[in-house]
Amino acid sequence: CGIVGYVGHADGRGNAGHSALDVVLEGLRRLEYRGYDSAGVAVVSDGAIESRKKSGKLSNLRAELEEHPLPETLTGIGHTRWATHGGPTDQNAHPHLADDGKLALIHNGIIENFAELKLDLVDKGYKFASETDTEVAAVLLGDIFRNQLNGNADGGLAVAMQLACQQLEGAFTLLAVHADQPDVVVAARRNSPLVVGLGEGENFLGSDVSGFIDYTRRAVELGQDQIVTITADTVEITDFFGAPAQGKEYHVDWDP
Ligand code: GLU
Repeated sequence: CGIVGYVGHADGRGNAGHSALDVVLEGLRRLEYRGYDSAGVAVVSDGAIESRKKSGKLSNLRAELEEHPLPETLTGIGHTRWATHGGPTDQNAHPHLADDGKLALIHNGIIENFAELKLDLVDKGYKFASETDTEVAAVLLGDIFRNQLNGNADGGLAVAMQLACQQLEGAFTLLAVHADQPDVVVAARRNSPLVVGLGEGENFLGSDVSGFIDYTRRAVELGQDQIVTITADTVEITDFFGAPAQGKEYHVDWDP
């Protein structure tokens, strides 16, 4: 229901010195007005994904993070969920992991054709840990990255996202991180909102600008059926087939 993504700079340039986890949790707090039944985060750390998720309020996730802390990292994503497929449990909360735990994905919306995609993936031998439509998108993305693109880390996640989105039907904002591409967040949107926040030596993603309003007021609204790849210094937009595309840049002039 609410989505935040962040990539900061390794040499701490710009406003940075931000920890991805702090930025993401602050963004989720700003997005609380949307309503939700569970919350989760993932960070990329030392070639691995680490995630925590909890049903109920953000305070439950914060308590979990106190008990099982996450490292300070440069890259992270966070989600508050409004359950549509599968009850509001810890297991169904996002992020959902794939590619042997090296990929984490969060999702707003509904994947209409998840059941048929899931049958194919079960046939290929994949096991599922949740009842969500979202986990199907995660496993599909992981399968494409690993088996179709041979885990080609250099730009591979964005290409995998294009190929996955060509198969997905419905309404979705998706954000993904991969342990093999630790300084990148890739996102996609169809029939569901996604905004980029432009920083100095850091960049942001949000389901709306509230997700990053404390850090920047320069925003780029993505168009329909677009994919964006952010690093600390770059923002690259394409369509679902890899053709370069452009979002609409604007200044956020209201106060939260
Ligand atoms: N359909 C997904 C689920 O039930 C995402 C719901 C949302 O937008 O938060 O997990």
